[in-house]
Amino acid sequence: MSGDVLIIEGGRVLDPAGGRDEKGDVIVADGLIVADVPAQARTIRRYDADGLWVVPGLLDLHVHFREPGGEASETLASGAATAARSGFTRVVTMPNTRPPMDDPALIRQHLAASAHLPVDILPSACCTSRRAGGEIADLAALKAAGASAFTDDGSMVADDAVMLQVMQTAAALDMVVMEHAVVPELAGAGVVRDSPVARSAGLPVFPPEAEVEAVARDIRLVRQTGCRLHIQHLSCAGAIDLIRAARREGLPVSAEVTPHHLMLAAEDIPADDANWKMNPPLGTRADVAALRVAVAEGVITCCATDHAPHAAPLKAGGFRGTMFGVLGLETAIGASLRALVVETGISPLVWVATWTTAPAAIIGLTPPSLRPGTRADICLIRPGTWTFGAEDIFSKSRNTPFIGQRLEGRCVATLRAGRFYASR
Ligand SMILES: [Zn+2]
Repeated sequence: MSGDVLIIEGGRVLDPAGGRDEKGDVIVADGLIVADVPAQARTIRRYDADGLWVVPGLLDLHVHFREPGGEASETLASGAATAARSGFTRVVTMPNTRPPMDDPALIRQHLAASAHLPVDILPSACCTSRRAGGEIADLAALKAAGASAFTDDGSMVADDAVMLQVMQTAAALDMVVMEHAVVPELAGAGVVRDSPVARSAGLPVFPPEAEVEAVARDIRLVRQTGCRLHIQHLSCAGAIDLIRAARREGLPVSAEVTPHHLMLAAEDIPADDANWKMNPPLGTRADVAALRVAVAEGVITCCATDHAPHAAPLKAGGFRGTMFGVLGLETAIGASLRALVVETGISPLVWVATWTTAPAAIIGLTPPSLRPGTRADICLIRPGTWTFGAEDIFSKSRNTPFIGQRLEGRCVATLRAGRFYASR
């Protein structure tokens, strides 16, 4: 016990696990949250949180840190620093690295690296060998190595028989399968939804049916296997209807939505610019409205960024011939808070849950909280409108459609195990 105490004073404490939304203090001693200043405290620091929101450290179920194989775009270190400065204390990394994360040794490497990084890395592992969709990976060994979930993110496990086997095995291991729900033949060469930019630039259209059909297939397999299924980056109204019905039926199905799908629509794309290209593409305004309602209704419980950095040469030009994906961490709070709290009227406490208790439940972690005895993982947020600019990018890459967008709320500091990471 070092006796170093930090008192975060007078903030709006928002703790969904404890049902707490009130002005108050949070006391940190030796990396833990405590109820009172310990009698043996040697030094006491005070942090004035007046006007700030004090929330548990955020958890992102969906980031791409590109290591190994794509270090020009992002590394574990640059991604972790970006996450910490954006309010996150834990992230689930996607397995579409080169080589892909189908090897228990790679999972162990990422977990070991996490000890030296400002956020916990919770690596997901591939569903299939080489992420090629043909043959199931050794899921038991990947779980034993510490994989947090199974997914072939970047592509769907399109073969029904292979996915059936993946879900049967994951169910037996009590693990969640996270699906990039896009039927490849239906998406074809599509890059954007039918929209003004698609028509003016003659871009191939990526139809919403590619997502709807994938979600329908997966729900059928959940009914057969009882496997917990999590649909990644839900983007359209048709797929929401299927998730709603599946949850009403009592099936173990969850879904995430990204801040970009909540805030931006295909009609907003200003030009044939790859900074607006992601997979699945931005939905129509009607889809955006349906996604917001789905969060308000509790059909979608979870936000996730799909932080997908790409180095400049991979994004130079328009939608044709460039990579799918946009940055997500730096704008996660500002875009989702604006879309959900300011523009939809969702309570701040429920909004915090979409980034903390809900994603934790999906991958089977204990609920993040600010209760005494828990690790001091804390995010401090300054509410208020601001404009996102190039200087607000922390990633190694620059690919974002949010430059010049008005956002609401930003991270000013993050603590992991009581250690402070300033945002700026
Ligand atoms: Zn994906």
